[in-house]
Amino acid sequence: MVYFVGAGPGAVDLVTVRGRDLLSCADVIIYAGSLVNQELLHYAKRGCEIYNSAKMYLEEIVDVMVKAEKEGKLVVRLHTGDPSLYGAIKEQMDLLEGAGIPYEVCPGVSSFCGAAAALKQEYTLPSVSQSVIITRMEGQTTVPEQETLHKLAEHGCTMVLFLSMGLTEQVKQELLSGAYRESTPCAIVYKATWQDEKVVRGTVGQLPEMAKKHQITKTALIIVGDVLESDYELSKLYDAGFSTEFRKAIPKQQEQGIAILSFTEQGTIKNQKLANQLKEEGILCDTYTVEKYQRPGVQAFQSLPKLIGDIFGKKNVLLFIGATGIAVRAVAPFLKGKETDPAVLVMDEAGNHIISLLSGHLGGANEWCKKIAGLIGAEAIITTATDIRRIFAVDVFAKKNNLIIKNLESCKEVSACLLSGKQVAILSDYKLETIPKGVVLVSKEEAGQYPCGIYIHREGQERKEKLPFPMTCELLLKNLYVGIGCKKGKSREELLLFLEECLGSLKISKERVAMVASIDYKAEEEGICALAKELDVPFMVFTAEELLEVEGEFQESMFVKEKVGVGNVCERAAILASKGTLIIKKTCKEGMTFALAEKEMTLQCCM
Ligand code: SAH
Repeated sequence: MVYFVGAGPGAVDLVTVRGRDLLSCADVIIYAGSLVNQELLHYAKRGCEIYNSAKMYLEEIVDVMVKAEKEGKLVVRLHTGDPSLYGAIKEQMDLLEGAGIPYEVCPGVSSFCGAAAALKQEYTLPSVSQSVIITRMEGQTTVPEQETLHKLAEHGCTMVLFLSMGLTEQVKQELLSGAYRESTPCAIVYKATWQDEKVVRGTVGQLPEMAKKHQITKTALIIVGDVLESDYELSKLYDAGFSTEFRKAIPKQQEQGIAILSFTEQGTIKNQKLANQLKEEGILCDTYTVEKYQRPGVQAFQSLPKLIGDIFGKKNVLLFIGATGIAVRAVAPFLKGKETDPAVLVMDEAGNHIISLLSGHLGGANEWCKKIAGLIGAEAIITTATDIRRIFAVDVFAKKNNLIIKNLESCKEVSACLLSGKQVAILSDYKLETIPKGVVLVSKEEAGQYPCGIYIHREGQERKEKLPFPMTCELLLKNLYVGIGCKKGKSREELLLFLEECLGSLKISKERVAMVASIDYKAEEEGICALAKELDVPFMVFTAEELLEVEGEFQESMFVKEKVGVGNVCERAAILASKGTLIIKKTCKEGMTFALAEKEMTLQCCM
């Protein structure tokens, strides 16, 4: 029998157990000398005949195999990585078949997996890329017309390029003619998993220089795609819009995700299992248990109050697997209010029931409860009246649409009104997708007839001093994008003061700012980073090329153009980040420029 065996990417202990056993039984080994780690040959038994295929022609290789097999010998043909990728095994198999020789294939760890390990990278991140294209640049081996690199590049997904190190300039051009940008992250992994492995990171635009500078000409893979550097979707439920639109945003310095706590052995088994399911959904998950029941991947804690103290306010969901009493007592000392408290859930250790205990609406506990119940087949227990009666909840509506609630108490009034069967009015400056049951859309003139209503407005000069309804739930949309350009060294205070002046001139509150944007050249500018932090919004940067592509008439500065390659940063960045329209044009003061764009939105209603 002839076995085609995958040798793995390099490290000797990355051959499979089956592959190693075959090596140690083989009478003849033919290995691909150029890439296979020769240390693997130590597994060969005494007297095994060993050939290096790098020095042989195809026919020679097959002759050796055929002859040995006919003598009843076990032959291993050792290929690098996994033989199915660029292994040229088909031609060997065809010849063996012609000669009536039986053969089998033993898979191996491909180098693209080795490279992912070297990069500590997941190639498939939710909402960033869910596909990996494995390909190569056309060289001496032709590539079918349908698969030329620029055609494949149209997908913009994660891409791994084999056998292309000699052609980095062409690779770059072909990638750019597809969906990748100069700034798309890119990495070269040289000799993944070998002792002399090297990882070089950069962008598509820098690819040829990266290879040149590190003198990498072969035995390397090129990996491209936004997965290499992304603030990916933490939770599909709550960050759906965020992750796609703010894909490249420099994330807020906030830990998020779920903490799961268990207190019994059964509970800890459930804990571990649920965490794995959530991680598969792309949700960040930390797991904790009491010391006695510690399991792999679940951290032990000694003091529950100390643990809660550490994670409260950092995690957006706390899930207790155990008695409700434990959860209530544990969180009680830390509760502040519904604007800030995390979602708290309790589940029994058998996973029969899961209760939304705290922050059902604003904290999202009800949604999480339903989601987790769905994942594990539990019954979701929700006690919020509006949910039970499927009545419109204004706080859930606000959360879903990124609306700021000016007065939280007013939400209760709206709910009370709807629960008692009375109509609630909505006066809105934005379009609504649908009008929920029990709610009527009204004009300014009609507003006075309704005792209770929701008022969603753009602020600005037109904002009436008097609220339109006797009981008004006032909502503001967080849909303003600030574009900034500034001289080096401008402080957070200077920038903030100027921003407040600009917003103040239009009577707009700064809580409506959803993002700060600038050019990549300013990515590390301390003042802007601190400003974004102060506003508690992401800071997004674009390359000069991306900014140049924004269409419209902008007030250009020759000086800035010469310096950074684009003559107007703030207006272009604001438009690009928001995909909206300018409401404050470029405004300058003491080496700072600001522009403000508003994103037009249709509000989604939910029951
Ligand atoms: N069957 C192999 C690929 C063989 S083609 C596999 O599955 O990995 C040879 C190409 O694979 C090389 O030119 C290089 O692009 C890549 N390659 C092989 N081993 C590698 C390693 N350890 N690190 C990076 N790239 C590697």
